[in-house]
Amino acid sequence: MDELILKDFRKQLESTMRGLANSKNTPYARVADHSAKEPMDEADMASHHCDQALVHTFHYRNQQLANEIRSAIQRIDEGEFGTCALCSDTIGLERLRARPTAMLCIRCQETMEAVRRRFHGPRHSAVA
Ligand SMILES: [Zn+2]
Repeated sequence: MDELILKDFRKQLESTMRGLANSKNTPYARVADHSAKEPMDEADMASHHCDQALVHTFHYRNQQLANEIRSAIQRIDEGEFGTCALCSDTIGLERLRARPTAMLCIRCQETMEAVRRRFHGPRHSAVA
């Protein structure tokens, strides 16, 4: 892959990573932090637990994305960025532009999703 294109992907990935590092200023984090400091009745407690679940989900997804970004940057460093981890074909530039952390070509991704759907049902078909 062209060096300038790789440089652009690296810049985009690093920018996304910086955004994740600043995620403690998100509305979810502020809401959960605020609600924990005040006396709570049952409705407040239920709301607080719901907020906490959202915060955990938010942080889990951020952590997952951070890991995917680190992996993509490592693939750039190792000259493997844009190569499918399963079949070694080139991952389309359009797919990489839409999802720079993609490790699979569209054909392998669709196969993986079909397998997931078959064993776990449609709700577990994650995009990678
Ligand atoms: Zn593939």
